[in-house]
Amino acid sequence: MKVGFIGVGNMGGPMCRNIIRNTNHEVIVFDLSADAVKACTDLGASAAPSVADLASRCDVVITSLPIPRVVEEVTLGAGGIAENAKAGSVFIDLSTNSPATAKRVAAGMQAKGIAMLEAPVSGGTARATDGTIVIMVGGDDKVVEQNLPLLKSFSGEVVHVGEIGYGSTAKLINNMLAFCNAAAAAEALMIGKRSGIDLKKLDAVIRNASGMSSGYAGMSTKALAGNFQPTFALDLAHKDLRLALEMADELGVPGMIAPQVMNLMRMARGMGLGSSDSASVIRVYEKALGEEVRA
Ligand code: NAD
Repeated sequence: MKVGFIGVGNMGGPMCRNIIRNTNHEVIVFDLSADAVKACTDLGASAAPSVADLASRCDVVITSLPIPRVVEEVTLGAGGIAENAKAGSVFIDLSTNSPATAKRVAAGMQAKGIAMLEAPVSGGTARATDGTIVIMVGGDDKVVEQNLPLLKSFSGEVVHVGEIGYGSTAKLINNMLAFCNAAAAAEALMIGKRSGIDLKKLDAVIRNASGMSSGYAGMSTKALAGNFQPTFALDLAHKDLRLALEMADELGVPGMIAPQVMNLMRMARGMGLGSSDSASVIRVYEKALGEEVRA
Protein backbone atom coordinates (compact mmCIF):
# COMPACT_ATOMS: atom_id res chain seq x y z
CA MET A 1 0.00 0.00 0.00
CA LYS A 2 1.02 3.64 -0.35
CA VAL A 3 1.81 5.44 2.90
CA GLY A 4 2.24 9.23 2.92
CA PHE A 5 4.20 10.93 5.72
CA ILE A 6 3.91 14.70 6.26
CA GLY A 7 6.28 16.29 8.80
CA VAL A 8 9.53 14.31 8.95
CA GLY A 9 11.33 16.37 11.62
CA ASN A 10 12.91 15.24 14.91
CA MET A 11 10.16 12.68 15.58
CA GLY A 12 8.47 12.13 12.22
CA GLY A 13 11.81 11.57 10.46
CA PRO A 14 12.96 8.52 12.44
CA MET A 15 9.42 7.07 12.60
CA CYS A 16 9.04 7.42 8.83
CA ARG A 17 12.44 5.81 8.26
CA ASN A 18 11.41 2.86 10.43
CA ILE A 19 8.32 2.37 8.23
CA ILE A 20 10.61 2.41 5.17
CA ARG A 21 12.99 -0.12 6.79
CA ASN A 22 10.42 -2.43 8.39
CA THR A 23 7.62 -2.69 5.81
CA ASN A 24 7.18 -3.19 2.08
CA HIS A 25 4.91 -0.15 1.75
CA GLU A 26 5.68 2.52 -0.82
CA VAL A 27 6.43 5.62 1.30
CA ILE A 28 5.89 9.18 0.01
CA VAL A 29 7.03 12.15 2.11
CA PHE A 30 6.36 15.88 2.30
CA ASP A 31 7.99 18.49 4.57
CA LEU A 32 8.82 22.18 4.29
CA SER A 33 12.46 21.30 5.04
CA ALA A 34 14.40 19.89 2.08
CA ASP A 35 16.99 18.33 4.42
CA ALA A 36 14.29 16.50 6.38
CA VAL A 37 12.84 15.13 3.12
CA LYS A 38 16.28 14.05 1.88
CA ALA A 39 16.96 11.99 5.02
CA CYS A 40 13.91 9.88 4.02
CA THR A 41 14.36 9.81 0.22
CA ASP A 42 17.97 8.63 0.82
CA LEU A 43 16.43 5.49 2.37
CA GLY A 44 14.01 4.85 -0.50
CA ALA A 45 10.98 7.11 0.01
CA SER A 46 9.84 9.38 -2.79
CA ALA A 47 9.14 13.09 -2.30
CA ALA A 48 5.76 14.69 -3.06
CA PRO A 49 5.59 18.30 -4.30
CA SER A 50 2.66 19.19 -2.01
CA VAL A 51 0.31 17.95 0.69
CA ALA A 52 -2.47 17.77 -1.93
CA ASP A 53 -0.44 15.58 -4.30
CA LEU A 54 0.65 13.25 -1.48
CA ALA A 55 -2.87 12.92 -0.04
CA SER A 56 -4.45 12.18 -3.43
CA ARG A 57 -2.09 9.23 -4.02
CA CYS A 58 -1.97 7.48 -0.64
CA ASP A 59 -4.03 4.82 1.15
CA VAL A 60 -2.82 6.00 4.55
CA VAL A 61 -1.63 9.55 5.32
CA ILE A 62 0.40 10.12 8.50
CA THR A 63 1.33 13.50 10.01
CA SER A 64 3.83 14.52 12.72
CA LEU A 65 3.52 18.30 12.89
CA PRO A 66 4.53 20.89 15.51
CA ILE A 67 1.40 22.68 16.75
CA PRO A 68 -2.41 22.35 16.51
CA ARG A 69 -2.71 25.33 14.15
CA VAL A 70 -0.39 23.66 11.62
CA VAL A 71 -2.23 20.35 12.02
CA GLU A 72 -5.55 22.09 11.28
CA GLU A 73 -4.07 23.88 8.23
CA VAL A 74 -2.57 20.73 6.76
CA THR A 75 -5.68 18.63 7.44
CA LEU A 76 -8.72 20.89 7.03
CA GLY A 77 -7.19 23.91 5.23
CA ALA A 78 -7.19 24.70 1.51
CA GLY A 79 -5.07 22.17 -0.39
CA GLY A 80 -5.08 19.97 2.71
CA ILE A 81 -5.63 16.29 3.40
CA ALA A 82 -9.44 16.33 3.81
CA GLU A 83 -9.85 18.12 0.49
CA ASN A 84 -7.56 15.75 -1.42
CA ALA A 85 -7.38 12.29 0.16
CA LYS A 86 -9.41 9.43 -1.33
CA ALA A 87 -12.69 8.43 0.32
CA GLY A 88 -11.96 5.17 2.16
CA SER A 89 -8.39 6.19 3.00
CA VAL A 90 -7.09 6.52 6.57
CA PHE A 91 -5.52 9.52 8.26
CA ILE A 92 -3.25 9.02 11.29
CA ASP A 93 -2.01 12.03 13.29
CA LEU A 94 1.06 11.38 15.48
CA SER A 95 1.33 15.05 16.60
CA THR A 96 0.52 16.22 20.14
CA ASN A 97 -2.79 18.09 20.02
CA SER A 98 -5.67 18.99 22.28
CA PRO A 99 -8.56 16.49 22.41
CA ALA A 100 -10.79 19.24 20.92
CA THR A 101 -8.51 19.65 17.89
CA ALA A 102 -8.41 15.88 17.35
CA LYS A 103 -12.22 15.71 17.44
CA ARG A 104 -12.61 18.67 15.06
CA VAL A 105 -10.15 17.19 12.56
CA ALA A 106 -11.77 13.73 12.82
CA ALA A 107 -15.19 15.25 12.05
CA GLY A 108 -13.76 17.06 8.99
CA MET A 109 -12.21 13.81 7.77
CA GLN A 110 -15.36 11.80 8.42
CA ALA A 111 -17.37 14.23 6.26
CA LYS A 112 -15.10 13.22 3.35
CA GLY A 113 -15.25 9.48 4.08
CA ILE A 114 -11.74 9.40 5.58
CA ALA A 115 -11.25 7.47 8.83
CA MET A 116 -8.97 9.01 11.44
CA LEU A 117 -6.80 7.76 14.28
CA GLU A 118 -5.17 10.22 16.65
CA ALA A 119 -1.97 8.53 17.69
CA PRO A 120 0.37 10.76 19.72
CA VAL A 121 3.66 9.19 20.72
CA SER A 122 6.00 9.23 23.70
CA GLY A 123 9.64 8.27 24.12
CA GLY A 124 11.56 11.10 22.47
CA THR A 125 13.87 10.96 19.49
CA ALA A 126 15.96 8.09 20.90
CA ARG A 127 13.00 5.71 21.06
CA ALA A 128 11.54 7.05 17.79
CA THR A 129 14.89 6.05 16.26
CA ASP A 130 15.21 2.60 17.82
CA GLY A 131 11.53 1.84 17.13
CA THR A 132 10.46 1.36 20.77
CA ILE A 133 8.24 4.43 21.04
CA VAL A 134 4.82 4.08 22.73
CA ILE A 135 1.76 5.12 20.71
CA MET A 136 -1.51 6.04 22.46
CA VAL A 137 -4.35 5.68 20.03
CA GLY A 138 -7.83 7.20 19.95
CA GLY A 139 -10.28 5.94 17.34
CA ASP A 140 -12.66 3.18 16.25
CA ASP A 141 -11.78 -0.43 17.12
CA LYS A 142 -11.96 -1.55 13.51
CA VAL A 143 -9.71 1.20 12.17
CA VAL A 144 -7.19 0.61 14.96
CA GLU A 145 -7.15 -3.13 14.25
CA GLN A 146 -6.66 -2.60 10.50
CA ASN A 147 -3.74 -0.26 11.05
CA LEU A 148 -2.04 -2.09 13.93
CA PRO A 149 0.65 -3.71 11.73
CA LEU A 150 1.61 -0.27 10.36
CA LEU A 151 1.68 1.30 13.86
CA LYS A 152 3.70 -1.64 15.22
CA SER A 153 6.25 -1.29 12.39
CA PHE A 154 7.68 1.83 14.08
CA SER A 155 6.82 1.39 17.78
CA GLY A 156 7.36 -0.87 20.77
CA GLU A 157 3.92 -0.51 22.34
CA VAL A 158 0.51 0.50 20.98
CA VAL A 159 -2.20 1.27 23.55
CA HIS A 160 -5.72 1.81 22.24
CA VAL A 161 -6.99 4.15 24.95
CA GLY A 162 -10.51 4.81 23.63
CA GLU A 163 -12.35 6.89 21.09
CA ILE A 164 -11.00 10.02 19.38
CA GLY A 165 -9.87 12.54 22.03
CA TYR A 166 -8.54 10.01 24.53
CA GLY A 167 -5.21 9.58 22.72
CA SER A 168 -4.51 13.30 23.19
CA THR A 169 -5.85 13.15 26.75
CA ALA A 170 -3.38 10.39 27.66
CA LYS A 171 -0.52 12.20 25.93
CA LEU A 172 -1.12 15.56 27.65
CA ILE A 173 -1.40 13.95 31.09
CA ASN A 174 1.80 11.97 30.48
CA ASN A 175 3.73 15.01 29.31
CA MET A 176 2.54 17.18 32.19
CA LEU A 177 3.96 14.56 34.54
CA ALA A 178 7.23 14.31 32.60
CA PHE A 179 7.75 18.11 32.57
CA CYS A 180 7.04 18.34 36.32
CA ASN A 181 9.61 15.59 36.93
CA ALA A 182 12.13 17.34 34.69
CA ALA A 183 11.62 20.71 36.42
CA ALA A 184 12.03 19.05 39.84
CA ALA A 185 15.21 17.45 38.47
CA ALA A 186 16.55 20.87 37.45
CA GLU A 187 15.94 22.21 40.96
CA ALA A 188 17.50 19.10 42.52
CA LEU A 189 20.62 19.33 40.37
CA MET A 190 21.05 23.01 41.26
CA ILE A 191 20.84 22.16 44.97
CA GLY A 192 23.45 19.47 44.30
CA LYS A 193 25.69 21.96 42.51
CA ARG A 194 25.54 24.49 45.34
CA SER A 195 26.17 21.81 47.98
CA GLY A 196 29.54 21.00 46.42
CA ILE A 197 28.74 17.29 46.01
CA ASP A 198 30.35 15.49 43.03
CA LEU A 199 27.50 15.82 40.49
CA LYS A 200 28.48 12.65 38.64
CA LYS A 201 28.20 10.69 41.88
CA LEU A 202 24.90 12.35 42.78
CA ASP A 203 23.67 11.41 39.30
CA ALA A 204 24.80 7.81 39.75
CA VAL A 205 22.85 7.65 43.02
CA ILE A 206 19.63 9.15 41.64
CA ARG A 207 19.64 6.96 38.52
CA ASN A 208 19.58 3.93 40.83
CA ALA A 209 17.35 5.35 43.56
CA SER A 210 13.78 6.50 44.14
CA GLY A 211 14.28 9.94 42.56
CA MET A 212 14.75 8.41 39.10
CA SER A 213 12.30 9.15 36.28
CA SER A 214 12.63 9.65 32.56
CA GLY A 215 12.16 13.40 33.23
CA TYR A 216 15.18 13.27 35.57
CA ALA A 217 17.25 11.20 33.14
CA GLY A 218 16.61 13.58 30.23
CA MET A 219 17.31 16.67 32.32
CA SER A 220 20.52 15.39 33.89
CA THR A 221 21.91 13.99 30.62
CA LYS A 222 21.50 17.35 28.89
CA ALA A 223 22.33 19.66 31.81
CA LEU A 224 25.47 17.86 32.97
CA ALA A 225 26.78 17.81 29.38
CA GLY A 226 25.62 21.40 28.75
CA ASN A 227 24.03 20.13 25.52
CA PHE A 228 20.76 21.95 24.80
CA GLN A 229 20.56 21.10 21.09
CA PRO A 230 16.85 20.47 20.64
CA THR A 231 15.62 16.91 20.41
CA PHE A 232 12.38 18.26 21.93
CA ALA A 233 12.12 22.03 21.60
CA LEU A 234 11.04 24.10 24.62
CA ASP A 235 8.41 25.80 22.42
CA LEU A 236 6.78 22.39 21.79
CA ALA A 237 6.97 21.41 25.47
CA HIS A 238 5.36 24.74 26.37
CA LYS A 239 2.58 24.01 23.85
CA ASP A 240 1.97 20.59 25.42
CA LEU A 241 1.88 21.95 28.98
CA ARG A 242 -0.43 24.80 27.95
CA LEU A 243 -2.85 22.25 26.47
CA ALA A 244 -2.60 20.10 29.63
CA LEU A 245 -3.34 23.11 31.85
CA GLU A 246 -6.32 24.05 29.66
CA MET A 247 -7.61 20.51 30.06
CA ALA A 248 -7.14 20.65 33.86
CA ASP A 249 -9.00 23.96 33.93
CA GLU A 250 -11.90 22.62 31.83
CA LEU A 251 -12.13 19.64 34.19
CA GLY A 252 -11.93 21.81 37.33
CA VAL A 253 -8.72 20.21 38.62
CA PRO A 254 -6.63 22.63 40.72
CA GLY A 255 -3.01 23.04 39.69
CA MET A 256 -0.40 23.14 42.45
CA ILE A 257 2.66 21.99 40.57
CA ALA A 258 2.20 22.19 36.79
CA PRO A 259 1.47 25.98 36.75
CA GLN A 260 4.84 26.56 38.48
CA VAL A 261 6.53 24.56 35.74
CA MET A 262 4.64 26.65 33.18
CA ASN A 263 6.11 29.80 34.76
CA LEU A 264 9.59 28.29 34.57
CA MET A 265 9.00 27.60 30.86
CA ARG A 266 7.76 31.16 30.33
CA MET A 267 10.93 32.54 31.94
CA ALA A 268 13.14 30.28 29.79
CA ARG A 269 11.28 31.33 26.64
CA GLY A 270 11.62 34.97 27.76
CA MET A 271 15.38 34.36 27.85
CA GLY A 272 15.19 33.45 24.15
CA LEU A 273 15.47 29.69 24.69
CA GLY A 274 12.24 28.60 22.96
CA SER A 275 13.99 26.82 20.13
CA SER A 276 16.53 25.16 22.48
CA ASP A 277 15.80 21.83 24.09
CA SER A 278 13.08 21.72 26.74
CA ALA A 279 15.80 20.88 29.32
CA SER A 280 16.72 24.57 29.01
CA VAL A 281 14.41 25.35 31.94
CA ILE A 282 17.46 24.62 34.13
CA ARG A 283 19.12 27.68 32.60
CA VAL A 284 16.61 29.88 34.47
CA TYR A 285 18.13 28.58 37.74
CA GLU A 286 21.63 28.90 36.31
CA LYS A 287 21.09 32.49 35.24
CA ALA A 288 19.45 33.47 38.54
CA LEU A 289 22.19 31.89 40.65
CA GLY A 290 25.14 32.67 38.39
CA GLU A 291 26.49 29.15 38.11
CA GLU A 292 26.07 26.20 35.77
CA VAL A 293 25.23 22.58 36.50
CA ARG A 294 27.88 20.72 34.47
CA ALA A 295 29.89 17.59 35.13
P1 NAD B 1 9.98 19.22 14.52
O1 NAD B 1 9.81 20.69 14.47
O2 NAD B 1 11.34 18.63 14.63
O3 NAD B 1 9.27 18.54 13.23
C1 NAD B 1 8.12 19.04 12.62
C2 NAD B 1 8.33 18.97 11.12
O4 NAD B 1 7.13 19.45 10.49
C3 NAD B 1 9.48 19.86 10.61
O5 NAD B 1 10.36 19.09 9.81
C4 NAD B 1 8.78 20.96 9.82
O6 NAD B 1 9.54 21.40 8.70
C5 NAD B 1 7.51 20.24 9.37
N1 NAD B 1 6.43 21.15 9.06
C6 NAD B 1 6.01 22.25 9.74
N2 NAD B 1 4.95 22.81 9.13
C7 NAD B 1 4.70 22.04 8.03
C8 NAD B 1 3.75 22.12 7.00
N3 NAD B 1 2.83 23.09 6.96
N4 NAD B 1 3.78 21.17 6.04
C9 NAD B 1 4.71 20.19 6.06
N5 NAD B 1 5.65 20.07 7.01
C10 NAD B 1 5.64 21.00 7.99
O7 NAD B 1 9.04 18.73 15.72
P2 NAD B 1 9.07 17.29 16.45
O8 NAD B 1 9.89 17.41 17.69
O9 NAD B 1 9.35 16.23 15.45
O10 NAD B 1 7.55 17.21 16.93
C11 NAD B 1 6.49 16.81 16.08
C12 NAD B 1 5.28 16.51 16.94
O11 NAD B 1 5.58 15.42 17.83
C13 NAD B 1 4.85 17.68 17.84
O12 NAD B 1 3.45 17.72 17.91
C14 NAD B 1 5.47 17.35 19.18
O13 NAD B 1 4.78 17.94 20.26
C15 NAD B 1 5.36 15.83 19.18
N6 NAD B 1 6.35 15.11 20.00
C16 NAD B 1 7.66 15.47 20.03
C17 NAD B 1 8.56 14.72 20.81
C18 NAD B 1 10.05 15.05 20.85
O14 NAD B 1 10.74 14.50 21.72
N7 NAD B 1 10.57 15.86 19.97
C19 NAD B 1 8.12 13.62 21.54
C20 NAD B 1 6.78 13.25 21.45
C21 NAD B 1 5.90 14.00 20.68
